[in-house]
Amino acid sequence: MEIEKIKRQNKTKKVSRIVILGAGESGVGAAILAKKQGFDVFVSDFGAIRDNYKKSLLEYNILYEEGKHTIEKITNAELIIKSPGISDEVAVIKKLKKLKKLIISELEFAAKYTQAYKICVTGSNGKTTTCSMIYDILQKAGLNAGLAGNIGKSFALQVALNNYDYYVLEISSFQLDGMFEFKADIAVLMNITPDHLDRYHNNFRNYINSKFRIINNQQADDKFIYCTDDPVINKELENRKIKSEKLPFSLTKKQKQGAYVENNQMSIIYKNQIFNMNLFELALQGKHNAYNSMAAGIAAHVLSIRKEDIRESLSDFQGVEHRLEPVVRVHGIDFINDSKATNVNSTWYALESMSKKVVWIVGGIDKGNDYSMLTDLVKEKVKAIVCLGENNTKFFKYFGESVENIVETGSMIEAVKQSYKLANKGDIVLLSPACASFDLFDNYEDRGRQFKTAVRNL
Ligand code: ADP
Repeated sequence: MEIEKIKRQNKTKKVSRIVILGAGESGVGAAILAKKQGFDVFVSDFGAIRDNYKKSLLEYNILYEEGKHTIEKITNAELIIKSPGISDEVAVIKKLKKLKKLIISELEFAAKYTQAYKICVTGSNGKTTTCSMIYDILQKAGLNAGLAGNIGKSFALQVALNNYDYYVLEISSFQLDGMFEFKADIAVLMNITPDHLDRYHNNFRNYINSKFRIINNQQADDKFIYCTDDPVINKELENRKIKSEKLPFSLTKKQKQGAYVENNQMSIIYKNQIFNMNLFELALQGKHNAYNSMAAGIAAHVLSIRKEDIRESLSDFQGVEHRLEPVVRVHGIDFINDSKATNVNSTWYALESMSKKVVWIVGGIDKGNDYSMLTDLVKEKVKAIVCLGENNTKFFKYFGESVENIVETGSMIEAVKQSYKLANKGDIVLLSPACASFDLFDNYEDRGRQFKTAVRNL
Protein backbone atom coordinates (compact mmCIF):
# COMPACT_ATOMS: atom_id res chain seq x y z
CA MET A 1 0.00 0.00 0.00
CA GLU A 2 2.69 2.48 1.02
CA ILE A 3 4.74 1.70 -2.02
CA GLU A 4 1.63 2.06 -4.16
CA LYS A 5 1.20 5.58 -2.85
CA ILE A 6 4.78 6.48 -3.56
CA LYS A 7 4.44 5.01 -7.04
CA ARG A 8 1.35 7.07 -7.75
CA GLN A 9 3.16 10.24 -6.75
CA ASN A 10 6.31 9.38 -8.52
CA LYS A 11 4.60 8.08 -11.64
CA THR A 12 7.37 5.52 -12.00
CA LYS A 13 7.21 1.75 -12.06
CA LYS A 14 8.31 0.59 -8.66
CA VAL A 15 10.31 2.08 -5.83
CA SER A 16 13.19 -0.24 -5.15
CA ARG A 17 16.08 2.16 -4.61
CA ILE A 18 15.98 4.98 -2.09
CA VAL A 19 18.76 7.52 -1.78
CA ILE A 20 19.10 9.52 1.40
CA LEU A 21 20.86 12.87 1.23
CA GLY A 22 22.44 13.92 4.50
CA ALA A 23 23.64 11.46 7.12
CA GLY A 24 22.60 13.24 10.30
CA GLU A 25 20.00 12.10 12.80
CA SER A 26 17.08 12.17 10.36
CA GLY A 27 19.02 10.71 7.40
CA VAL A 28 20.48 7.79 9.29
CA GLY A 29 17.12 7.04 10.91
CA ALA A 30 15.45 7.08 7.48
CA ALA A 31 18.18 4.82 6.08
CA ILE A 32 17.68 2.25 8.84
CA LEU A 33 13.91 2.26 8.40
CA ALA A 34 14.21 1.98 4.60
CA LYS A 35 16.67 -0.89 4.93
CA LYS A 36 14.38 -2.70 7.35
CA GLN A 37 11.56 -2.27 4.87
CA GLY A 38 13.63 -4.05 2.24
CA PHE A 39 14.63 -1.16 -0.03
CA ASP A 40 17.99 -0.83 -1.74
CA VAL A 41 19.40 2.08 0.29
CA PHE A 42 22.27 4.47 -0.39
CA VAL A 43 23.26 7.41 1.80
CA SER A 44 25.22 10.37 0.44
CA ASP A 45 26.57 13.26 2.48
CA PHE A 46 28.51 16.16 1.01
CA GLY A 47 30.24 16.75 4.32
CA ALA A 48 31.87 14.41 6.84
CA ILE A 49 29.65 11.87 8.58
CA ARG A 50 29.91 11.67 12.36
CA ASP A 51 31.48 8.47 13.68
CA ASN A 52 28.43 7.32 15.61
CA TYR A 53 26.28 7.60 12.49
CA LYS A 54 28.85 5.73 10.37
CA LYS A 55 28.80 2.98 12.95
CA SER A 56 25.00 2.70 12.69
CA LEU A 57 25.14 2.60 8.89
CA LEU A 58 27.74 -0.15 8.97
CA GLU A 59 25.78 -2.09 11.55
CA TYR A 60 22.78 -2.20 9.21
CA ASN A 61 24.91 -2.87 6.10
CA ILE A 62 23.91 0.40 4.52
CA LEU A 63 26.16 1.73 1.76
CA TYR A 64 27.20 5.35 2.06
CA GLU A 65 29.59 8.00 0.79
CA GLU A 66 30.85 11.18 2.45
CA GLY A 67 32.57 14.35 1.27
CA LYS A 68 30.83 14.13 -2.12
CA HIS A 69 27.64 13.39 -4.03
CA THR A 70 28.26 10.85 -6.80
CA ILE A 71 25.52 11.91 -9.12
CA GLU A 72 25.04 8.56 -10.95
CA LYS A 73 24.54 6.79 -7.65
CA ILE A 74 21.85 9.28 -6.70
CA THR A 75 19.87 9.89 -9.86
CA ASN A 76 19.16 6.17 -10.29
CA ALA A 77 16.88 6.16 -7.21
CA GLU A 78 13.11 6.37 -7.55
CA LEU A 79 12.76 8.13 -4.22
CA ILE A 80 14.98 10.67 -2.48
CA ILE A 81 14.79 11.46 1.23
CA LYS A 82 16.44 14.79 1.86
CA SER A 83 17.74 16.06 5.17
CA PRO A 84 15.90 19.23 6.24
CA GLY A 85 19.30 20.93 6.51
CA ILE A 86 19.91 20.78 2.74
CA SER A 87 18.65 23.79 0.83
CA ASP A 88 16.75 23.44 -2.45
CA GLU A 89 19.37 25.64 -4.05
CA VAL A 90 22.26 23.16 -3.92
CA ALA A 91 23.33 21.62 -7.22
CA VAL A 92 22.31 18.04 -6.49
CA ILE A 93 18.75 19.03 -5.54
CA LYS A 94 18.39 21.25 -8.59
CA LYS A 95 19.50 18.35 -10.76
CA LEU A 96 17.08 15.91 -9.09
CA LYS A 97 14.24 18.38 -9.48
CA LYS A 98 15.00 18.73 -13.16
CA LEU A 99 14.78 14.95 -13.44
CA LYS A 100 11.38 15.19 -11.66
CA LYS A 101 12.48 12.87 -8.88
CA LEU A 102 10.24 12.67 -5.86
CA ILE A 103 12.01 14.32 -2.93
CA ILE A 104 10.47 13.89 0.50
CA SER A 105 11.46 14.42 4.11
CA GLU A 106 12.19 11.79 6.72
CA LEU A 107 8.91 12.46 8.56
CA GLU A 108 6.88 11.92 5.40
CA PHE A 109 8.64 8.62 4.80
CA ALA A 110 8.45 7.32 8.36
CA ALA A 111 4.76 8.17 8.75
CA LYS A 112 3.95 5.58 6.07
CA TYR A 113 5.13 2.82 8.39
CA THR A 114 3.28 3.57 11.62
CA GLN A 115 -0.36 3.65 12.64
CA ALA A 116 0.46 5.71 15.75
CA TYR A 117 -1.51 8.83 16.70
CA LYS A 118 0.53 11.91 15.82
CA ILE A 119 0.57 15.19 17.74
CA CYS A 120 2.59 17.58 15.61
CA VAL A 121 3.92 20.93 16.71
CA THR A 122 5.28 23.69 14.52
CA GLY A 123 5.78 27.46 14.77
CA SER A 124 8.64 29.91 14.76
CA ASN A 125 9.19 29.57 18.51
CA GLY A 126 8.15 27.32 21.34
CA LYS A 127 8.16 24.02 19.45
CA THR A 128 10.65 22.13 21.64
CA THR A 129 9.22 23.45 24.88
CA THR A 130 5.63 22.63 23.90
CA CYS A 131 6.54 19.18 22.56
CA SER A 132 8.43 18.41 25.74
CA MET A 133 5.45 19.50 27.83
CA ILE A 134 3.02 17.34 25.83
CA TYR A 135 5.38 14.39 26.02
CA ASP A 136 5.76 14.84 29.76
CA ILE A 137 1.97 14.84 30.22
CA LEU A 138 1.58 11.73 28.04
CA GLN A 139 4.23 9.96 30.07
CA LYS A 140 2.64 10.96 33.37
CA ALA A 141 -0.63 9.58 32.02
CA GLY A 142 1.11 6.27 31.28
CA LEU A 143 0.65 6.39 27.50
CA ASN A 144 3.08 4.52 25.26
CA ALA A 145 4.54 7.59 23.54
CA GLY A 146 7.64 8.64 21.61
CA LEU A 147 9.09 12.13 21.24
CA ALA A 148 10.68 12.82 17.85
CA GLY A 149 11.09 15.18 14.92
CA ASN A 150 13.68 17.86 15.52
CA ILE A 151 14.20 16.55 19.00
CA GLY A 152 16.10 13.52 20.30
CA LYS A 153 16.14 10.34 18.21
CA SER A 154 14.64 10.63 14.74
CA PHE A 155 11.03 9.66 14.05
CA ALA A 156 12.16 7.17 11.37
CA LEU A 157 14.51 5.40 13.78
CA GLN A 158 11.81 5.13 16.42
CA VAL A 159 9.33 3.80 13.87
CA ALA A 160 11.96 1.25 12.84
CA LEU A 161 12.85 0.13 16.36
CA ASN A 162 9.92 0.90 18.67
CA ASN A 163 6.23 0.37 18.69
CA TYR A 164 4.69 3.50 20.13
CA ASP A 165 0.96 4.26 20.11
CA TYR A 166 1.52 8.03 20.18
CA TYR A 167 4.17 10.34 18.80
CA VAL A 168 4.80 13.92 19.74
CA LEU A 169 6.60 15.41 16.74
CA GLU A 170 8.45 18.71 16.59
CA ILE A 171 8.28 19.76 12.95
CA SER A 172 10.32 22.53 11.35
CA SER A 173 9.32 24.33 8.18
CA PHE A 174 12.13 22.55 6.34
CA GLN A 175 10.65 19.17 7.25
CA LEU A 176 7.17 20.41 6.29
CA ASP A 177 8.43 21.39 2.85
CA GLY A 178 9.08 17.71 2.11
CA MET A 179 5.72 16.47 3.43
CA PHE A 180 2.84 15.73 1.06
CA GLU A 181 0.59 12.92 2.29
CA PHE A 182 1.47 13.16 5.98
CA LYS A 183 -1.45 13.93 8.27
CA ALA A 184 -1.30 15.22 11.82
CA ASP A 185 -4.05 13.92 14.10
CA ILE A 186 -3.46 16.99 16.25
CA ALA A 187 -1.67 19.89 14.56
CA VAL A 188 -0.32 22.67 16.78
CA LEU A 189 0.78 26.00 15.32
CA MET A 190 2.44 28.14 17.98
CA ASN A 191 3.15 31.38 16.09
CA ILE A 192 4.57 32.66 12.82
CA THR A 193 7.22 35.37 12.83
CA PRO A 194 9.92 35.95 10.22
CA ASP A 195 12.69 33.35 10.50
CA HIS A 196 14.90 31.37 8.12
CA LEU A 197 13.95 33.77 5.35
CA ASP A 198 17.30 33.06 3.70
CA ARG A 199 15.83 29.64 2.79
CA TYR A 200 12.57 31.17 1.50
CA HIS A 201 13.90 33.64 -1.09
CA ASN A 202 13.48 36.37 1.53
CA ASN A 203 9.76 36.01 1.10
CA PHE A 204 7.69 35.78 4.28
CA ARG A 205 4.72 34.46 2.28
CA ASN A 206 6.67 31.31 1.36
CA TYR A 207 7.53 30.74 5.01
CA ILE A 208 3.88 31.22 6.07
CA ASN A 209 2.75 28.70 3.44
CA SER A 210 5.33 26.28 4.68
CA LYS A 211 4.14 26.52 8.29
CA PHE A 212 0.52 26.01 7.27
CA ARG A 213 1.44 22.68 5.68
CA ILE A 214 1.06 21.34 9.23
CA ILE A 215 -2.72 21.05 8.57
CA ASN A 216 -2.41 19.43 5.13
CA ASN A 217 -4.68 16.40 4.72
CA GLN A 218 -6.47 16.99 8.02
CA GLN A 219 -10.14 15.95 8.12
CA ALA A 220 -13.12 16.90 10.27
CA ASP A 221 -12.21 14.69 13.22
CA ASP A 222 -8.63 15.99 13.38
CA LYS A 223 -7.71 18.94 15.58
CA PHE A 224 -5.98 22.22 14.83
CA ILE A 225 -4.62 24.02 17.90
CA TYR A 226 -3.26 27.52 17.21
CA CYS A 227 -2.49 30.86 18.78
CA THR A 228 -5.26 33.28 17.95
CA ASP A 229 -3.26 36.22 19.36
CA ASP A 230 -0.89 35.85 16.42
CA PRO A 231 -1.82 38.36 13.72
CA VAL A 232 -0.16 36.39 10.92
CA ILE A 233 -2.06 33.21 11.76
CA ASN A 234 -5.37 35.07 12.12
CA LYS A 235 -4.97 36.85 8.80
CA GLU A 236 -4.14 33.57 7.11
CA LEU A 237 -7.18 31.86 8.58
CA GLU A 238 -9.42 34.45 6.94
CA ASN A 239 -8.36 33.09 3.58
CA ARG A 240 -8.13 29.38 4.27
CA LYS A 241 -10.78 26.74 4.60
CA ILE A 242 -9.90 24.61 7.59
CA LYS A 243 -11.41 21.14 7.61
CA SER A 244 -10.28 20.11 11.08
CA GLU A 245 -11.71 21.17 14.42
CA LYS A 246 -10.27 24.55 15.40
CA LEU A 247 -9.02 24.92 18.97
CA PRO A 248 -7.54 28.41 19.42
CA PHE A 249 -5.67 29.66 22.47
CA SER A 250 -5.33 33.26 23.61
CA LEU A 251 -4.00 35.35 26.47
CA THR A 252 -6.51 38.08 25.83
CA LYS A 253 -9.77 36.75 24.36
CA LYS A 254 -12.23 34.31 25.87
CA GLN A 255 -12.68 31.16 23.73
CA LYS A 256 -15.63 28.77 23.54
CA GLN A 257 -13.31 25.86 22.82
CA GLY A 258 -9.53 25.88 23.20
CA ALA A 259 -7.87 27.90 25.93
CA TYR A 260 -7.69 31.42 27.32
CA VAL A 261 -6.52 33.38 30.34
CA GLU A 262 -8.68 35.65 32.47
CA ASN A 263 -7.59 37.17 35.79
CA ASN A 264 -4.48 34.99 35.76
CA GLN A 265 -6.62 31.88 35.48
CA MET A 266 -5.96 29.59 32.53
CA SER A 267 -9.06 27.75 31.26
CA ILE A 268 -8.86 24.89 28.82
CA ILE A 269 -12.17 23.85 27.31
CA TYR A 270 -12.99 20.92 25.10
CA LYS A 271 -16.45 19.43 24.56
CA ASN A 272 -17.83 21.26 27.60
CA GLN A 273 -15.15 19.84 29.86
CA ILE A 274 -13.25 22.64 31.58
CA PHE A 275 -9.80 22.43 33.12
CA ASN A 276 -8.63 25.42 35.17
CA MET A 277 -5.20 26.30 36.47
CA ASN A 278 -3.75 29.46 37.96
CA LEU A 279 -0.91 30.93 35.89
CA PHE A 280 1.26 31.18 39.00
CA GLU A 281 1.04 27.40 39.41
CA LEU A 282 2.80 26.87 36.08
CA ALA A 283 6.36 25.64 36.42
CA LEU A 284 7.55 27.79 33.52
CA GLN A 285 6.73 31.47 33.84
CA GLY A 286 6.52 34.23 31.25
CA LYS A 287 3.92 34.98 28.57
CA HIS A 288 5.52 32.65 26.06
CA ASN A 289 5.30 29.76 28.48
CA ALA A 290 1.66 30.54 29.18
CA TYR A 291 1.12 30.04 25.45
CA ASN A 292 3.15 26.84 25.46
CA SER A 293 1.25 25.51 28.47
CA MET A 294 -2.12 26.33 26.89
CA ALA A 295 -1.20 24.54 23.67
CA ALA A 296 0.07 21.49 25.57
CA GLY A 297 -2.94 21.55 27.88
CA ILE A 298 -5.42 21.57 24.98
CA ALA A 299 -3.69 18.62 23.30
CA ALA A 300 -3.78 16.68 26.56
CA HIS A 301 -7.41 17.59 27.23
CA VAL A 302 -8.41 16.43 23.73
CA LEU A 303 -6.80 13.08 24.52
CA SER A 304 -8.96 12.88 27.67
CA ILE A 305 -5.94 12.77 29.95
CA ARG A 306 -6.87 13.10 33.61
CA LYS A 307 -6.83 16.68 34.90
CA GLU A 308 -4.56 15.67 37.79
CA ASP A 309 -1.93 14.41 35.34
CA ILE A 310 -2.07 17.62 33.30
CA ARG A 311 -1.86 19.78 36.41
CA GLU A 312 1.01 17.81 37.91
CA SER A 313 2.98 17.94 34.70
CA LEU A 314 2.47 21.65 33.99
CA SER A 315 3.29 22.57 37.57
CA ASP A 316 6.55 20.64 37.89
CA PHE A 317 7.85 20.69 34.30
CA GLN A 318 11.60 21.16 34.41
CA GLY A 319 12.11 23.27 31.30
CA VAL A 320 14.49 22.53 28.48
CA GLU A 321 18.21 23.31 28.39
CA HIS A 322 19.20 26.59 26.64
CA ARG A 323 15.67 28.05 26.88
CA LEU A 324 15.72 30.77 29.54
CA GLU A 325 17.68 28.33 31.65
CA PRO A 326 18.85 29.78 34.99
CA VAL A 327 22.56 28.97 35.29
CA VAL A 328 23.86 30.33 38.56
CA ARG A 329 23.90 33.45 40.75
CA VAL A 330 27.34 35.07 41.15
CA HIS A 331 27.62 37.87 43.72
CA GLY A 332 23.92 38.58 43.41
CA ILE A 333 23.93 38.59 39.59
CA ASP A 334 21.70 35.99 37.91
CA PHE A 335 23.04 34.44 34.71
CA ILE A 336 20.42 33.10 32.28
CA ASN A 337 21.15 30.96 29.23
CA ASP A 338 18.67 31.53 26.38
CA SER A 339 21.06 30.44 23.63
CA LYS A 340 18.17 28.85 21.73
CA ALA A 341 16.78 32.32 21.05
CA THR A 342 17.96 32.36 17.46
CA ASN A 343 15.46 34.91 16.18
CA VAL A 344 14.16 38.31 17.23
CA ASN A 345 10.77 37.14 18.40
CA SER A 346 12.11 34.64 20.92
CA THR A 347 14.41 37.31 22.33
CA TRP A 348 11.41 39.63 22.64
CA TYR A 349 9.73 37.08 24.92
CA ALA A 350 12.94 36.60 26.88
CA LEU A 351 13.37 40.34 27.53
CA GLU A 352 9.67 40.72 28.22
CA SER A 353 9.84 38.13 30.99
CA MET A 354 12.82 39.78 32.78
CA SER A 355 11.87 41.42 36.05
CA LYS A 356 15.26 43.07 36.82
CA LYS A 357 17.76 45.21 34.92
CA VAL A 358 19.48 43.27 32.19
CA VAL A 359 22.96 43.08 30.73
CA TRP A 360 22.15 41.53 27.39
CA ILE A 361 24.54 39.36 25.37
CA VAL A 362 23.39 39.39 21.75
CA GLY A 363 24.68 38.64 18.26
CA GLY A 364 25.75 35.94 15.84
CA ILE A 365 24.62 35.30 12.30
CA ASP A 366 21.94 37.76 11.35
CA LYS A 367 19.25 36.16 9.16
CA GLY A 368 18.11 39.53 7.81
CA ASN A 369 16.75 40.53 11.23
CA ASP A 370 14.68 43.62 11.94
CA TYR A 371 15.37 44.53 15.56
CA SER A 372 12.92 47.40 15.81
CA MET A 373 10.35 45.34 17.77
CA LEU A 374 12.92 45.15 20.61
CA THR A 375 13.58 48.87 20.94
CA ASP A 376 11.00 49.64 23.62
CA LEU A 377 11.90 46.62 25.73
CA VAL A 378 15.60 47.46 25.47
CA LYS A 379 14.96 51.03 26.62
CA GLU A 380 12.90 49.75 29.53
CA LYS A 381 14.96 46.80 30.73
CA VAL A 382 18.46 46.73 29.29
CA LYS A 383 21.27 48.71 30.92
CA ALA A 384 24.14 47.38 28.80
CA ILE A 385 24.65 45.38 25.64
CA VAL A 386 27.51 42.98 25.02
CA CYS A 387 27.73 42.13 21.33
CA LEU A 388 29.07 38.71 20.53
CA GLY A 389 29.34 38.07 16.82
CA GLU A 390 31.41 38.74 13.76
CA ASN A 391 29.35 41.67 12.63
CA ASN A 392 27.80 43.91 15.26
CA THR A 393 27.06 47.08 13.32
CA LYS A 394 23.29 46.59 13.42
CA PHE A 395 23.22 46.51 17.23
CA PHE A 396 25.02 49.83 17.40
CA LYS A 397 22.59 51.24 14.86
CA TYR A 398 19.43 50.01 16.58
CA PHE A 399 20.37 50.31 20.25
CA GLY A 400 23.48 52.48 20.54
CA GLU A 401 21.39 55.41 21.77
CA SER A 402 19.15 53.37 24.09
CA VAL A 403 21.62 51.92 26.57
CA GLU A 404 24.32 53.22 28.91
CA ASN A 405 26.97 50.90 27.51
CA ILE A 406 27.45 48.82 24.39
CA VAL A 407 30.63 46.82 23.84
CA GLU A 408 31.94 44.33 21.28
CA THR A 409 33.50 40.98 22.14
CA GLY A 410 34.93 38.14 20.08
CA SER A 411 34.57 35.10 22.33
CA MET A 412 32.19 33.75 24.93
CA ILE A 413 34.77 34.03 27.71
CA GLU A 414 35.28 37.70 26.92
CA ALA A 415 31.53 38.32 26.61
CA VAL A 416 30.86 36.77 30.02
CA LYS A 417 33.72 38.73 31.63
CA GLN A 418 32.49 42.00 30.14
CA SER A 419 28.91 41.40 31.18
CA TYR A 420 30.01 40.53 34.71
CA LYS A 421 31.85 43.86 34.84
CA LEU A 422 28.84 45.78 33.56
CA ALA A 423 26.31 44.12 35.89
CA ASN A 424 25.66 44.99 39.53
CA LYS A 425 24.18 43.00 42.37
CA GLY A 426 20.47 42.43 41.61
CA ASP A 427 20.92 42.52 37.83
CA ILE A 428 20.52 39.74 35.30
CA VAL A 429 23.01 38.74 32.62
CA LEU A 430 20.95 37.29 29.79
CA LEU A 431 22.40 35.44 26.81
CA SER A 432 19.57 35.70 24.27
CA PRO A 433 21.33 36.20 20.95
CA ALA A 434 18.40 36.69 18.49
CA CYS A 435 20.78 35.26 15.88
CA ALA A 436 22.11 31.92 14.68
CA SER A 437 25.34 30.73 16.24
CA PHE A 438 27.45 29.42 13.37
CA ASP A 439 29.94 32.32 13.15
CA LEU A 440 31.65 31.54 16.45
CA PHE A 441 30.09 28.25 17.60
CA ASP A 442 29.18 24.79 16.28
CA ASN A 443 25.52 25.34 17.09
CA TYR A 444 23.29 26.93 19.72
CA GLU A 445 23.96 24.08 22.17
CA ASP A 446 27.70 24.69 21.94
CA ARG A 447 27.09 28.42 22.45
CA GLY A 448 24.92 27.73 25.53
CA ARG A 449 27.40 25.27 27.00
CA GLN A 450 30.33 27.67 26.49
CA PHE A 451 28.28 30.35 28.23
CA LYS A 452 27.58 28.11 31.22
CA THR A 453 31.22 27.06 31.48
CA ALA A 454 32.45 30.65 31.28
CA VAL A 455 29.95 31.74 33.94
CA ARG A 456 30.92 28.92 36.28
CA ASN A 457 34.59 29.88 35.86
CA LEU A 458 34.06 33.49 36.90
P1 ADP B 1 11.77 26.13 19.00
O1 ADP B 1 11.88 24.65 19.20
O2 ADP B 1 10.57 26.52 18.20
O3 ADP B 1 13.00 26.80 18.55
P2 ADP B 1 12.02 26.45 21.88
O4 ADP B 1 10.98 25.89 22.76
O5 ADP B 1 13.28 25.71 21.73
O6 ADP B 1 11.40 26.73 20.45
O7 ADP B 1 12.35 27.94 22.34
C1 ADP B 1 13.19 28.74 21.54
C2 ADP B 1 13.35 30.12 22.08
O8 ADP B 1 12.10 30.81 22.02
C3 ADP B 1 13.77 30.15 23.53
O9 ADP B 1 14.68 31.20 23.60
C4 ADP B 1 12.51 30.44 24.32
O10 ADP B 1 12.78 31.19 25.46
C5 ADP B 1 11.64 31.19 23.32
N1 ADP B 1 10.25 30.74 23.34
C6 ADP B 1 9.74 29.60 23.86
N2 ADP B 1 8.42 29.52 23.64
C7 ADP B 1 8.06 30.63 22.95
C8 ADP B 1 6.82 31.12 22.43
N3 ADP B 1 5.66 30.45 22.57
N4 ADP B 1 6.85 32.30 21.78
C9 ADP B 1 8.00 32.98 21.62
N5 ADP B 1 9.18 32.58 22.09
C10 ADP B 1 9.23 31.42 22.76
